[in-house]
Amino acid sequence: MAKEDYYDLLGVAKGATEEELKKAYRKKAVQYHPDKNPGNKESEEMFKKVSEAYEVLKDPDKRAAYDRFGHAAFQGMGGGARGPSGAGGFHDPFDIFREVFGQGGGGGGIFDEMFGGGGGRDGGRDGSDLRYDLELTLEEAARGAEKEISFRKLVSCEHCHGSGAEPGSKRVTCPTCRGAGQVRRSGGIIVFTQTCPTCGGAGVKIERPCLVCRGDGRVAKTTKLNVKIPPGVDTGSRLRSAGNGEAAAAGGTPGDLYIVLSVKEHELFERHGDDLFCEIPIKFTLATLGGSIEVPTLSGKASLKIPAGTQSGTTFRLRDRGMPSLRGGRHGDQLVRVHVEVPASLSAEQRRILEEFARVSGDAHEPTSRKFFEKAKKFF
Ligand SMILES: [Zn+2]
Ligand SMILES: [Zn+2]
Repeated sequence: MAKEDYYDLLGVAKGATEEELKKAYRKKAVQYHPDKNPGNKESEEMFKKVSEAYEVLKDPDKRAAYDRFGHAAFQGMGGGARGPSGAGGFHDPFDIFREVFGQGGGGGGIFDEMFGGGGGRDGGRDGSDLRYDLELTLEEAARGAEKEISFRKLVSCEHCHGSGAEPGSKRVTCPTCRGAGQVRRSGGIIVFTQTCPTCGGAGVKIERPCLVCRGDGRVAKTTKLNVKIPPGVDTGSRLRSAGNGEAAAAGGTPGDLYIVLSVKEHELFERHGDDLFCEIPIKFTLATLGGSIEVPTLSGKASLKIPAGTQSGTTFRLRDRGMPSLRGGRHGDQLVRVHVEVPASLSAEQRRILEEFARVSGDAHEPTSRKFFEKAKKFF
């Protein structure tokens, strides 16, 4: 079976720059990452393939060899056929992924770039999108909330105003490649073309890089941000804060910040879409005689009528006492399932009265048990 072309796998042109390759790999790696496609063998296979493609193409020497000889360039590498897990010559695809995406912060705000780059424009390097995971209580999700979040990100360097050049220093043509952005290197009979290591392919070089940011134009800084959360959000809801991701280097667009929400489990309520569900114990006398009870809701207490003869497991609906809809309009409902409790111990008087009740009832059955015993007779 013929192996797919590495450029085709990443969806880039043969002449793609290092930056384009990285961007393309990021996109594909996120698309096919096993965490996003649990149990999907096809995605897993694609995840390995794009990792392998990127591993080869990001290395100028390997890329040159591939361009010249195709897959034959790596045959026999590592001494044999590649195993199903990509062993033999190529790295673990997850290592490549971590190398490109970083390990993630851990603790409060965890960043990654699971949402890919923003515009895909060439020119200045665009800032990365960031992700912040924020946990809310059910009450906050119902009412909406305002939260201050704090996280580290790359911001424009104040010392050089983001230019990367030490004040007073100019941009000069790169002396290594004389502005071409590429250098040629001879290795035996093969001549490699390699991205210029001095200027990274830009063709220009800063005379004296900024002493604070070492020429990147950006520095890491802890940033605070107020986030407004609308009522009705649920686990998995994403808020986009445009331009609040990482700053761009050399005049690109800043990234966006994505706030990914999760709602904590509640002690009393279980959420089903916009409806809330809860279970409430009631006395067997109340279930038998009827009456009303006070029910907790997210907007205070509500009175619920229990009709005489209510069976255990009956569900009642409190209209509009559920979660607000994110799209506006109608609230969800609160569903209350009653659980009829049988007394665990009786006083002498209670026992006497209930025995009297049993005597008066005699053999008479309620409709539900009557039906049951009629069916059961066939088996006796
Ligand atoms: Zn600087
Ligand atoms: Zn150069």
